[in-house]
Amino acid sequence: MRLFRCACHSGLSYLRAPADAGSGSPAPRSGGSVDPSVLADLAAASRILADQGVVDAFGHVSMRHPNDPNRFLMSRSLAPALVTPDDIMEYDLDCECVYPRGRGSFLERFIHGEIFRARPDVMAVAHSHSANVIPFGLVDKPMQAMFHNAAFIARGVPVFDINEKFGDTDMLVGNAQKGVALAQSLCDKDIVLMRAHGSVATGPSLPVAVFRAVYTEMNARLQFQTMMLGGGSPIAALSPGEGVLADKVNLSSASRAWDLWKRRVGF
Ligand code: MN
Repeated sequence: MRLFRCACHSGLSYLRAPADAGSGSPAPRSGGSVDPSVLADLAAASRILADQGVVDAFGHVSMRHPNDPNRFLMSRSLAPALVTPDDIMEYDLDCECVYPRGRGSFLERFIHGEIFRARPDVMAVAHSHSANVIPFGLVDKPMQAMFHNAAFIARGVPVFDINEKFGDTDMLVGNAQKGVALAQSLCDKDIVLMRAHGSVATGPSLPVAVFRAVYTEMNARLQFQTMMLGGGSPIAALSPGEGVLADKVNLSSASRAWDLWKRRVGF
């Protein structure tokens, strides 16, 4: 029997999933019920990204299921600032919803499923179209780490060009093949830019993925200012070695930003 923990009120009510989601194939088995605080954190992450100007009507954040590495949690298709714990759904890595209850899924959920499949170390993924990042996917000017909070950028920032493998498309990562190609571009890095589309930030925890999404956008803004100020002269960005050392600090201090940003969105 599959059980789904409903988080709309106390988090204590359970809804039994039907044997079949109606898609013709049996719905995937659930990784198990999730503590309501986990669903609240993921809803908070969604609202934080909106509050911090990283996502607008579009964009989404996900986390790996705490009890099953082959499942992940993500909101139903909804503007990020509106997400509540009750909107969180569970998916397998093929991006099939465990219990859709007639609710819509994000078209680009394959970004998340295929990164979780390719990168066992990644526990959370945030996808956005934040405006200052997009130009760095359009020109041959690599993003560099402008300050210590963006230390992860010093490891390198790959650019995924969907046209290389798929020719002319609607630009969306709307199936598993495109998700696989994106995950290959990400490789072992923390973020990947998507040409003429946006970017993806990953992390070993939800707070760190959110932290990286926020500071990727801020770093892009700072790099523009630096380039204008420097008039094309070389930028004294973090070295790879400085990046490693500063990222270690960020991994342990991301919780301070998380606590602050969560409070700002009422969680
Ligand atoms: Mn997108």
